[in-house]
Amino acid sequence: MSELPDVERLLRAAALRVTRPRVAVMTAVREHPHADTASIIGVVRADIGDVSHQAVYDVLRSLTAAGLLRCIQPSGSVARYESRVGDNHHHVVCRSCGDIADVDCAIGTPPCLTASGAHGYSIDEAEVIYWGTCSSCSTEHISSTRSASIHIS
Ligand SMILES: [Zn+2]
Ligand SMILES: [Zn+2]
Repeated sequence: MSELPDVERLLRAAALRVTRPRVAVMTAVREHPHADTASIIGVVRADIGDVSHQAVYDVLRSLTAAGLLRCIQPSGSVARYESRVGDNHHHVVCRSCGDIADVDCAIGTPPCLTASGAHGYSIDEAEVIYWGTCSSCSTEHISSTRSASIHIS
């Protein structure tokens, strides 16, 4: 796997020992951005065989604490992980299927949004979640309306 050396380099740079579960979890999250824990466990098991839920949870926690992964948790959703860290990007979440996509900062640099009142805080991050309907859910809605009259499939 060509990503491996890169993942190992990131782990070493974060002063983390390179272990198979860590490499497998990092690789899984990079290949499946915004995946939840259950899907990450599935991908990791397909990659390196039997690994306990607890082991994957522990790895996710330590990689997040080390700043190699970012954990996001839109309301009503389980925790999702991504390897795109170090920028203040936001997310758009589909109300219908729960799909999540990245949204770049509206203004180039963090915290991106200017707070209307800072209460004396020095603000360095804004976490914005946009809610809406993803393109496949809106297409599905249109085609299901149509199929009622045209009877596709
Ligand atoms: Zn959707
Ligand atoms: Zn993201």
